[in-house]
Amino acid sequence: MTPPATTAPLTGRARAAAWATLAVGGLSRRLKMGSGSVVGGRVGLALEPDLLARLGRGRTAALVTGTNGKTTTTRLLVSALGGTGRVATNAVGSNLPAGLAAALAAAPGLRAVLEVDEGYLGRAKEALEPEVVVLLNLSRDQLDRVSEVRMVAGRFREALAGFDDGTVVANADDPLVVWGASTAPKVYWVGAGQLWRSDAVGCPACDGPVTFEPGGVGWSSGCGLRRPDPVLSLDGDDVVDAAGRRRPLRLSLPGRFNRANAVMALAAAEVLGVDMAGALSAMAHVGDVEGRFSVVTSGTVQARLLLAKNPAGWTELLDLLEGGDEPVVIGINARIADGHDPSWLWDVAFERLAGRHVVATGERARDLAVRLRYAGVSHAVVDDQLDALAASGARRVEYVGNYTAFQDLRRRLAERPGRPRQTEPPAPVLRAFRPAAAVPVARQPAETTGSAGQKRRRRLSDGVSALRVVVVHPDLLGTYGDAGNGRVVAARAAWRGASVELLLASSGRPLPAAGDLYLLGGGEDGPELQAGAELASSPLGQAVAQGAVMLGVCAGYQLLGTSFPDATGASRPGLGFLDVRTFKGPGRRAVGELLAEPLASSPLHEALTGFENHSGHTQLGQQVAPLANVRHGIGNGDGTEGAWSGNVFGTYLHGPVLARNPAFADLLLARATGEAPLALDDDEERALRTERLGAVQHPAWRRVRVRRP
Ligand SMILES: [Zn+2]
Repeated sequence: MTPPATTAPLTGRARAAAWATLAVGGLSRRLKMGSGSVVGGRVGLALEPDLLARLGRGRTAALVTGTNGKTTTTRLLVSALGGTGRVATNAVGSNLPAGLAAALAAAPGLRAVLEVDEGYLGRAKEALEPEVVVLLNLSRDQLDRVSEVRMVAGRFREALAGFDDGTVVANADDPLVVWGASTAPKVYWVGAGQLWRSDAVGCPACDGPVTFEPGGVGWSSGCGLRRPDPVLSLDGDDVVDAAGRRRPLRLSLPGRFNRANAVMALAAAEVLGVDMAGALSAMAHVGDVEGRFSVVTSGTVQARLLLAKNPAGWTELLDLLEGGDEPVVIGINARIADGHDPSWLWDVAFERLAGRHVVATGERARDLAVRLRYAGVSHAVVDDQLDALAASGARRVEYVGNYTAFQDLRRRLAERPGRPRQTEPPAPVLRAFRPAAAVPVARQPAETTGSAGQKRRRRLSDGVSALRVVVVHPDLLGTYGDAGNGRVVAARAAWRGASVELLLASSGRPLPAAGDLYLLGGGEDGPELQAGAELASSPLGQAVAQGAVMLGVCAGYQLLGTSFPDATGASRPGLGFLDVRTFKGPGRRAVGELLAEPLASSPLHEALTGFENHSGHTQLGQQVAPLANVRHGIGNGDGTEGAWSGNVFGTYLHGPVLARNPAFADLLLARATGEAPLALDDDEERALRTERLGAVQHPAWRRVRVRRP
């Protein structure tokens, strides 16, 4: 192992700024205002804007970034390098410049292993001139704050071009990471695996499809972007090097994703000169990373604490939960660090928890409850997270929180050492729902022939011919959880006794012609363009002409119009089903809660609630009417929201819109069947609506509202 580098002398101003960083941080800790690293670092950076570079000069540094696993990989690499006493690190996960400065100021001269927010890699790399940059994975996360994943990968490319003095350690199994890393002169590829692939089905290099080898690890795109041959790979419980030598990976941390994190850390340690056997044995002892994976006692309940903050993280975690029978307590918040839009809950396969009892908790428990209802998962809602741990009545539970929910629970557990919680489970706020099974989803359409409208006006009570709901290109138009609209409308028909076919119709295959209801969601600029090109020659036009019902959301709404802007702002032809045209709006992207009141002429009669995230302004022509007038938010950009004409509807609302607005779902069903749907028990949807309508009208919402930087 190489000895710690010596400190280069600091200038007077940098020394004062480093001192202030530590002093303010220490004061903040003594006043119990948190770990103090962020506020201290901010003061230091205000005194010496170049503080990061000054503190980093002369020492070895490794930067770890990616969507998931940053904190754990950083912790594992620190262990491999000798532990926290010998390494400067931001253990509390403060991964913006202020947190990095505080970590460096606290451990002068020591080698540094720092986790860095995906958006700040360029700035951190510029300042610290690291020996290693670790790129773990990229997937949708905090879409209201961090840009869409392709933009993040594009910024990696800019940051790493001409990175001659260091090595990039990158995950060969994530196409976005491979594209992001491939401008770097020196890359150490690692086969770490990546279960979640939904953000990489469109090639980031050419916008064409990425083909994954069925059952294998290979992937490639027509433009030549393909999986590079890895130097080190994870294979089951073993690490395999390029020569085929296997070494067992024994970790105290559970789950495939932690083995993937460990292989990435191992590669980085090797680049820094640590021998592999030593690194493996040091990492084996890491059992708890900032509370993740620890088992805590609250009253009479033992809870294992797990963190999952996005669909990719949940995909790995559902594997870990499989096979157990403990109740699962899930805490969901939607603060800045979580992303203000929890629509991503609809991209998580909560259907896999059917048969387990779930307690929904946290500030956005009602969004989760509605999601679980449509997933066919029995659940209760308990607002208070500590009460939620006890609410199932079981002695052992699994707790999964997203970022701030997890931090909140840990803080509250720490604040009440030894104080027993009530042993009787509290009464759930809502009764436990034991809903019907979720409607099964077909990914491969059963048949694609038949003419649109052939089976139009199927009655909901008619159990013979199925109502066909088609989610159009969810692989391209599914970034914001909008495929959930299909689950909602299909379940609401099934609960009324109708036979329903729910088809997720991916791109690259013939689109089912004989659909009754077609749903298009939001997506990034490239995939929107790809979907538009493919749909122009699909049977969708014929379906509309014959009266099929259609709903387009965000990019899907823009596509239904006559023209929409591509990434450069140039106008592209739309499908022309709605007389609207979209252009790049002036000013910043519209991001936030949207509330709109229906117009008297609208077929909708209830307020529309949802979350918008778009930069387009949509101009309505003579042949369409707006759906509603905007009360809060931007919508079309002229004070109205959405558009409709005949059976074709468009809106900017995510949520998904039909989960938050069940009356809208029932309107579409009524149009598709010609029958007024029977009333359903919508207590959970109503509870969610009441909460959201209250929140958006609260003055505080305006203050927390964020827009993309
Ligand atoms: Zn390509």
